[in-house]
Amino acid sequence: MSLRHEKEKGVNVQVLLRCRPFSDDELRSNAPQVVTCNDYNREVAVSQNIAGKHIDRVFTFDKVFGPNARQQDLYDQAIIPIVNEVLEGFNCTIFAYGQTGTGKTYTMEGECKRSKSGPNGELPAEAGVIPRAVKQIFDTLESQNAEYSVKVTFLELYNEEITDLLAPEELSKVSLEDKQKKQLPLMEDGKGGVLVRGLEEEIVTSASEIFTLLERGSAKRRTAETLLNKQSSRSHSLFSITIHIKEATPEGEELIKCGKLNLVDLAGSENISRSGAREGRAREAGEINKSLLTLGRVINALVEHLGHVPYRFLCLSCFFVSLLRDSLGGRTKTCIIATVSPAVHCLEETLSTLDYAHRAK
Ligand code: ADP
Ligand code: MG
Repeated sequence: MSLRHEKEKGVNVQVLLRCRPFSDDELRSNAPQVVTCNDYNREVAVSQNIAGKHIDRVFTFDKVFGPNARQQDLYDQAIIPIVNEVLEGFNCTIFAYGQTGTGKTYTMEGECKRSKSGPNGELPAEAGVIPRAVKQIFDTLESQNAEYSVKVTFLELYNEEITDLLAPEELSKVSLEDKQKKQLPLMEDGKGGVLVRGLEEEIVTSASEIFTLLERGSAKRRTAETLLNKQSSRSHSLFSITIHIKEATPEGEELIKCGKLNLVDLAGSENISRSGAREGRAREAGEINKSLLTLGRVINALVEHLGHVPYRFLCLSCFFVSLLRDSLGGRTKTCIIATVSPAVHCLEETLSTLDYAHRAK
């Protein structure tokens, strides 16, 4: 019993690029388009006007999803194989990275106000990666003749503090001061990893149960207004699903396969001045940049196949990263979904997102 199912697999980082359609506001103001996607050639071209000269920069990714790509297209073409790996007992992490307002949350959660499945268990067309992955996992588990258990956690890293998004309602009603005291303490787990003490780990038995938890958690996510996007979220969120499957080998031995899927919606990648964040916000924005930088280092180290990944930097965000270490530490799949806007007013951020994502490849 409790033999871990392990296959040797190399580090595998996949970088996808998604460009959202023009928003109604952008269409009304006739915003010029500077990003052109060629999904078939996996290329993104960005046109710039430098000193009157027209210059095109072209980036290639593992997959490119232009403004016409539907939620299902992205899921079917890029995510199904990753979730299959998780069901085989591997750890996989999917990050959404990009400027605020470019579709990170849309891609990960979808228009999730009503992502509950319909009467026949089908998902709405706007459902994102998380509900689709949950559905794929339960559809697969329920069709197999094996015992299994599924656990989820949902947490947020905001301003260098971790909040449990699945904690019972009472906790969110206490005063701010009390609440700050209830911030989750981090502990060394004695194996070089980190535990979040008091983190709710919910055992779930059906996809609809996870959808309910997800809705509760999303509603709790702290958001604040910035000039770029009213719904702007300056926090990272991490939704994890852990699956244990008990199987019998042909020799009659019991085998436990354990796989984990981490789904990460990162804070906006934009810099302080362009989002209009100031003073009180400045520190926060600085912390977010630091977190992203740490994450960037981890990903870069991973890509360069260094034996040692620098999980242990000094700030709390590295703890967040170390929560992901299982997924980042080799024999795993990592997928980065970089999101951009097609419009000229985002040009600078778009280029920096493309450069960053391209480097992670
Ligand atoms: P972010 O999480 O990166 O800040 P959001 O996911 O909130 O961005 O997206 C901003 C707005 O753009 C939302 O209204 C969302 O519905 C819309 N949007 C983003 N990507 C797409 C897409 N691929 N297709 C249609 N609408 C999109
Ligand atoms: Mg968002």
